[in-house]
Amino acid sequence: MIADWRIEAQRYELRDIGSGNCAYMLKPEERGSEYPAWLCPTCFEQGVKGFLQFIAKLRGAGSIYRCSQCKSHTMVQGGPRWLCGEEASRGNADVDPPAQQAKS
Ligand SMILES: [Zn+2]
Repeated sequence: MIADWRIEAQRYELRDIGSGNCAYMLKPEERGSEYPAWLCPTCFEQGVKGFLQFIAKLRGAGSIYRCSQCKSHTMVQGGPRWLCGEEASRGNADVDPPAQQAKS
């Protein structure tokens, strides 16, 4: 249990990680150079950091992740990564090419 959980929790936000599942991850302004990690929403609500850990890859159907605390399983497309807005609903969105600048 983290003493200042309420402060810590404010650094995170709930995101749709695809396949109808959600996970907590750092807000964009809090990410910095931290490695992408997803936290189990069930544990998060109880003030516990349960990291979703890779278990197995399903052929053509995403991967299985398991919470390090409550051991619940989640099926996701791709691995933990930072998601912003619509990225999750677009599926496997990697790095977008830079937008073309209009000539002035
Ligand atoms: Zn959990």
